[in-house]
Amino acid sequence: MSDCIFCKIINKEIPTEIVFEDEQTIVFKDIHPQAPTHLLIVPKNHLESIKSDGSEQVASQLIAAAKTIAKQKGLDGYKLSFNVGKEGGQIVDHLHLHLLSNQLCH
Ligand code: AMP
Ligand code: ZN
Repeated sequence: MSDCIFCKIINKEIPTEIVFEDEQTIVFKDIHPQAPTHLLIVPKNHLESIKSDGSEQVASQLIAAAKTIAKQKGLDGYKLSFNVGKEGGQIVDHLHLHLLSNQLCH
């Protein structure tokens, strides 16, 4: 998706603070953090949202990545959330999982 901001981040066309990356997933810091730690866990394949067909499997990969990163970063507690559709607060139409914590991580 050439006009998708997260696809541009994945393709390194837009710089961002990447904290983890593998073949399927990229994790970077939210540019407007809503908590001391606010990460976005994003699949490299463009899917619009949880409403998209097949999102369940991708969502479970994203949750697994969130657990791994939280453990690596020493986060004891955190909140995971998907915004779904405009009415659900989704602004970027590329599926992503928010990870927020009141604990600061580096
Ligand atoms: P949502 O409202 O669920 O679509 O969340 C999209 C999130 O992406 C928001 O929290 C934005 O602050 C964040 N965001 C938008 N552009 C960037 C960017 N270039 N780098 C990092 N985060 C971004
Ligand atoms: Zn995209």
